[in-house]
Amino acid sequence: MHSRRQVFSSVMRLFLRWFRLCPRRGRVRLPRRLQELWSYSRLLLKTLYFNTLTNSDVVMDCLLEPVFWLVDHLTRWFGVVFVCLVVVLTSSILFIAYFCLLPMVLHTYSTAWIVWHVCYGHWNLVMIVFHYYKATKTSPGHPPQMKTDVPAVSICKKCIIPKPARTHHCGICNTCILKMDHHCPWLNNCVGHFNHRYFFSFCLYMTLGCVYCSISGRNMFIDAYNAIEHFKSLDVEKQGVPVTGVGLLIGILPPGSMTGQSYYQTSPPPFTFRDKMFHKSIIYMWVLTSTVALALGGLTLWHAVLISRGETSIERHINSKETRRMQKKGKVFRNPFNYGRLNNWKVFFGVEKRSHWLTRVLLPSGHAPYGDGLTWDFYPHKKDMMAI
Ligand SMILES: [Zn+2]
Ligand SMILES: [Zn+2]
Repeated sequence: MHSRRQVFSSVMRLFLRWFRLCPRRGRVRLPRRLQELWSYSRLLLKTLYFNTLTNSDVVMDCLLEPVFWLVDHLTRWFGVVFVCLVVVLTSSILFIAYFCLLPMVLHTYSTAWIVWHVCYGHWNLVMIVFHYYKATKTSPGHPPQMKTDVPAVSICKKCIIPKPARTHHCGICNTCILKMDHHCPWLNNCVGHFNHRYFFSFCLYMTLGCVYCSISGRNMFIDAYNAIEHFKSLDVEKQGVPVTGVGLLIGILPPGSMTGQSYYQTSPPPFTFRDKMFHKSIIYMWVLTSTVALALGGLTLWHAVLISRGETSIERHINSKETRRMQKKGKVFRNPFNYGRLNNWKVFFGVEKRSHWLTRVLLPSGHAPYGDGLTWDFYPHKKDMMAI
């Protein structure tokens, strides 16, 4: 048994020596590309097996690297498609609102309701467009590439630069992001320190806009749905089914055309193409806005909870892990960036005095967020930061 093992190890040694010597002695002339691939593979193997810090996580990371690469590239590419989708869907709802709903509101509603719909609708539209534009165009913020005095908590393995507190690396943007929340494909941008407020306000005002459309268009949706169903029933009757008195009851035929005997209905349809499109547009608008209101409403609520706690989406995972770890040790974890519920909101919206709730939250405002995103005051020092 012992000798067999010795023979096996000798054979393996010889085999490895042959491989090592092959390219140097030039017995087998490999193409340049293959040589590069060969030396890269050797380097990779050596890196894996000669690194004292190597563990199963590192090996799994290496094996899953192609999958991450694919997901990152697909998300980066789909970002543009998603942004176009947001613009096209929002524009379609606007088109329906201006060309189908507004003329009807102006003709049928009282003056007070007209003023309400025109004012609220336009204010909501301005807030959505402003915050979406700013969220997509504002850079989330990156740590400095050069060596600085900024206090760092770790080093980014990908960028090889110091990472300040709350900074994380985004694989899709391939850079470090200050106070990173997440990479949003709907914005095709990372959500970080400088555009977090724009992202949240966009979600909030888009949800409000969808809820507004869904509630105010509910009766119209029911009418349009019934009208389409009615039209379908007429279509069934037109498929060569003999029509007698039924046609008269549902208004297909002119009253004077009935002579008692059965015949095939040939009169023009009661709905024009324009009527049909109108009803279908109302149904499309109501279904789309109600669905978005539910989905985006849930997301907005979740982000509101995180902001109240002074956490980002990434920190939620880190903090829950840390809470469990501390619990095992019989200790309590306290989030150092939680300044109290109301103060968290003030810091988030940049509210420094009462009037800012109106000018900076309820109206479009391009003010910079609190702080530079590089250094952070911790909880005990910031308890009474904004006494208003
Ligand atoms: Zn990085
Ligand atoms: Zn990103």
